Amino acid sequence: MQSASATKFVWTFGMNPKASDPDLRAEGRGDMKELLGGKGAGLAEMSRTGAPVPPGFTIATSACRLWSERGGTLPPEVLVEIDVGLTQLEEALGRRLGDAKKPLLVSVRSGSKFSMPGMMDTILNLGLNDATVEGLAAETGNPRFAWDCYRRFLQMFGNVVFDIEKESFEHLLVKTRKAAKVSTDAEIPAEKLKGLIAEYKKVYSQIAKREFPQDVRTQLALARDAVFQSWGNARAVTYRRLNDIPDDLGTAVNVQGMVFGNTGERSGTGVGFTRNPSTGAKEFYGEFLQNAQGEDVVAGIRTPRPLTELERVMPEAFRELREITSRLEKHYRDVQDFEFTIQDDRLFMLQTRNGKRTGFAAVHIACDMIDEGLISEEEALLRVDPDSLNQLLHPVFDPEKRQHVLWDAHGLPASPGAATGRVVFTADDAVSRSAQGWPVVLVRQETEPNDIHGMHVAKGLLTATGGMTSHAAVVGRQMGKPAVVGCQALRINLKRKTLTIGQKTVKEGDPISVDGSTGEVILAEVPTVPSEVIQVVMGNRKPEDSQIWGGFERILAIADRYRRLGVRANADIPRDAKLAFAFGAEGIGLCRTEHMFFDEDRIPLVQAMILADSLADREKALAKLLPLQRADFEGLFEEMRGNPVTIRLIDPPLHEFLPKRGDIKAEIARVVGPAGGVGRKSSPPEEAKRLEALEDLLERVEALHEFNPMLGHRGCRLGITFPEITRMQARAIFEAAVAVSKRGIKVRPEIMVPLVGDAKELANQREIIVAEAAKVLEREGVEVDYLVGTMIEVPRACVTAEKIASEAEFFSFGTNDLTQTTFGMSRDDSGSFLTEYVSRGLLPADPFARLDREGVGELIKIAVAKGRSVRPNLKIGICGEHGGDPSSIEFCNEVGLDYVSASPFRVPIARLAAARAAILSRALHPERAKRVEGLPEKKAAQ
Ligand code: PEP
Ligand code: MG
Repeated sequence: MQSASATKFVWTFGMNPKASDPDLRAEGRGDMKELLGGKGAGLAEMSRTGAPVPPGFTIATSACRLWSERGGTLPPEVLVEIDVGLTQLEEALGRRLGDAKKPLLVSVRSGSKFSMPGMMDTILNLGLNDATVEGLAAETGNPRFAWDCYRRFLQMFGNVVFDIEKESFEHLLVKTRKAAKVSTDAEIPAEKLKGLIAEYKKVYSQIAKREFPQDVRTQLALARDAVFQSWGNARAVTYRRLNDIPDDLGTAVNVQGMVFGNTGERSGTGVGFTRNPSTGAKEFYGEFLQNAQGEDVVAGIRTPRPLTELERVMPEAFRELREITSRLEKHYRDVQDFEFTIQDDRLFMLQTRNGKRTGFAAVHIACDMIDEGLISEEEALLRVDPDSLNQLLHPVFDPEKRQHVLWDAHGLPASPGAATGRVVFTADDAVSRSAQGWPVVLVRQETEPNDIHGMHVAKGLLTATGGMTSHAAVVGRQMGKPAVVGCQALRINLKRKTLTIGQKTVKEGDPISVDGSTGEVILAEVPTVPSEVIQVVMGNRKPEDSQIWGGFERILAIADRYRRLGVRANADIPRDAKLAFAFGAEGIGLCRTEHMFFDEDRIPLVQAMILADSLADREKALAKLLPLQRADFEGLFEEMRGNPVTIRLIDPPLHEFLPKRGDIKAEIARVVGPAGGVGRKSSPPEEAKRLEALEDLLERVEALHEFNPMLGHRGCRLGITFPEITRMQARAIFEAAVAVSKRGIKVRPEIMVPLVGDAKELANQREIIVAEAAKVLEREGVEVDYLVGTMIEVPRACVTAEKIASEAEFFSFGTNDLTQTTFGMSRDDSGSFLTEYVSRGLLPADPFARLDREGVGELIKIAVAKGRSVRPNLKIGICGEHGGDPSSIEFCNEVGLDYVSASPFRVPIARLAAARAAILSRALHPERAKRVEGLPEKKAAQ
């Protein structure tokens, strides 16, 4: 077969439908998509099953490649094979191409390995000309039908082969309909169609400057070449870039005998699914039109009827269709999306393929098919795209209402779900307006840590700049807030509180909707519906009342039995931890402690700590923060019920906690007064004091100013220069651990030091942590098992990992920073150019969203190998945003990480992605499988 497929260019199907040997029914098979394209392989396989497929042949993708290499010609041996295929087809149907009495008509369609919008459309009725149309009319006794076929052919051929705009034909068709005083094309009488065809021919000579080819072999050659040509058209090239499809695959051409759904009321055409692709319900789903051909069903001129009505209209054909499609579903063991035509009560199958479906349907169908014994659990897991689980978690636009509005702009779909509300431009406005009862969507140039209160109350987030790991994106996902970021069409005028997209300007309070699953921004209100899964998780709906929840839980429970990787959550506050646990997180992989500092009540304390002149003053401020942090940690330990909690010491530069220079200056100007006349001596003492405080603040802010804060005084560098901060945080962690374990709840703190690039940095911080732990634990007489480890988020840490591992009990890859520092691309500023990099094919994907295996991945491999060379049992995880991305999770599984950590809403996605990775790599860990199998649904550690 290998050598045959290398030298055979034409593969027939459906020529011997009655043959008992499937090999005689079709030369190709369903698994030959690379050579025959998806459509060709599907037609071959369908013929093999015995389904009534009109006969035809597929010109293989290898011919397309040859055609391109030879500058648009085919070698004689291929042409000969095509001729032989055509002769076989003529014999099978007892008709000849171009025969004036009994003409063969064919359809010509493209079909590559991957279904690709942008490729050539279908041509139907090829083989008609001024002579054969008469033959067809005489043969069928139905001139209207024959001329209708001819005009359709002229339209499609002109559009596809000669690039004539569809509109050039369409308006003539509309004119003819009007002149004939009919409302549908099917009612136009033959005579009028003849006139229309004469007009169509003029369009050819006027627009394409060519006559319509009457020679049927020329028609076929031109159509075939148009298919090959369409492989290289701009739309197809762009589509391949965006979807990682190699350019050298080529497309196949399918030439198939025509069957007609437009011969009268006993004929028709339709499309359908073996199950509902939207909900997954096991119901026959689709549409059909009587007396219609091909495109009519989707063209929207006539409203198609639900497939279930076919039972009444043509019961025999309906019964057969049901029987064949369920057979095909069983054969393919998946939902089928099919096309059929009925010609004079006789059913023909034109296409079948695995049906695309929503996340809801994917889960529902996978569960049903396990129960029906159609697929195994592993297959069921591989059938559900992990990202599609998002659809089950986030509110969505009410589909009924959504279809009536157009989007105004597009940004990056950073955090899925739909949000609708009123525009606000600052975090403070978000808080005050939502207190007044507004549902708000926070629109910012970009968000920053001290916008957190506004983000919290917002229904959705929209930023003009920033990429998939920008602050708005990370926090949006973490909070489960729909977010669209990097929407470059936005023009924000903060002073006027307006936002402009193109010609439209809206002001504060105007309605806006964002869809974080698609990146769409709509300057209008679009109602949303909440997700049932979230309602169950939040305790607002009983699990048994939600079928969606039932499927979701079941698929994830199955996934847990197959995955090797642990799944933890990135969560900073007990409420998020609780949600993450409900979603199945087995611990916290990253608690960003600085997020606890941004709380409105705490900011003054944090500022006091930063502004302190002396160590004593700083310690005083830290002492006030201590009980607050302790309480946070207690909450996290409690929610995690004995599972590990990784707490990262403070990371961002201190100036982020202080007000902006400009704001302080403006405040000073306000206090001083417009004339600058509020002299210090004459002004009231409190004003003078205020002024002094502001000037101190300004001085400190200026002293802390950094040109490049991302590479500045942050991470462990802070803990090294201000050890008292590390001490306070360590003390808060251990006091919380003691308090919670005294309540009988097991605690497993893992203290993580950020941004380490050298083992000595970690040694320095470790010493402080261990000393503080000893102090607290000895004082309290309690034993707590804890680990001290580090984030690996700069390249130097990767290449010196064996040294770092001698100080670290665990590693956690901070791939946000590791990507940033490896590429030397700021994670906050790369949104503007990365999109272009990806669309131009310079990068396969945004490396902040999907792990760059070639660069960052290599560094990870080095770090894993070096780390484990000195500490074979080194626990290794990932807590960058990639920990929730299925492709990156697959990589983590491959390189032997122990766990991934994702934002709470991505925990289910990570569970499923980890299982799929394990199944695909066949690296199922028998120990883990055993352990998890024996556990009840929830994984509360003892
Ligand atoms: C990282 O850098 O990947 C990380 C998790 O830390 P942060 O995003 O807080 O810098
Ligand atoms: Mg980091």
